[in-house]
Amino acid sequence: MTDALYMNDSYLKEWNAKVVSIKDGIYIVLDKTAFYPKGGGQPCDMGYIIKNGQKFKVIYVGKFSGQISHEIDKLGLNVGDKVFCQLNWERRYTFMRYHTASHLISNVLYTKTNAKITGNQIELDKTRIDFSMTDYSPEKLKAYVDEANNIIENDLPVTINYMSKEEVLQNSELARLAKGLPNLKKFRIVNIGDIDKQVDGGTHISHLKEIGIIKLIKTVNKGKNNRRMYFFLKE
Ligand SMILES: [Zn+2]
Repeated sequence: MTDALYMNDSYLKEWNAKVVSIKDGIYIVLDKTAFYPKGGGQPCDMGYIIKNGQKFKVIYVGKFSGQISHEIDKLGLNVGDKVFCQLNWERRYTFMRYHTASHLISNVLYTKTNAKITGNQIELDKTRIDFSMTDYSPEKLKAYVDEANNIIENDLPVTINYMSKEEVLQNSELARLAKGLPNLKKFRIVNIGDIDKQVDGGTHISHLKEIGIIKLIKTVNKGKNNRRMYFFLKE
């Protein structure tokens, strides 16, 4: 199983690795990787796998049967090769900011209205969040975004810790999300200060101020269980 380096250090941009398997010449599995595979509403990372100065462009990263697979732009890597890897950091960092902003907005919507998040799609210049909310108005959503921006001002730290399934189930905040948890030995918990906890395998910034300012682009009402908002981040 690939060692997913981004789980412990979201800021790792370069690392050495070894090619452990290859399919069709262009689908590469490494012994360890910081390339985040597409998932949870976040697009995949891109960047380079480099062998003796020869650069292979990573054009897609996905998770297949538990393995992180990197699609590269040309043939030339072999099993056993020692490689140097480089993330397109600007792309990843933007996704980390948008993803962490989504946590914060979800937290405010849930705290204020019990809203449940039903979808999330992150892009480089905007992000969409879908949610269910009984009592809704564009003005209220604007106020919730203001509230999220006020929390950012406090620059709370975003931290990672690990819990057993028993510990997750004993925590009332996590338990509401815990239905259908797989049978893993340990679960990764992402905390924003002491206001938010999630079982989560994604990449996050380490302090809220790195988000910048959340700007609401528009809201769309597609029925009580299907509200939608778009936002972008201003540095
Ligand atoms: Zn997350």
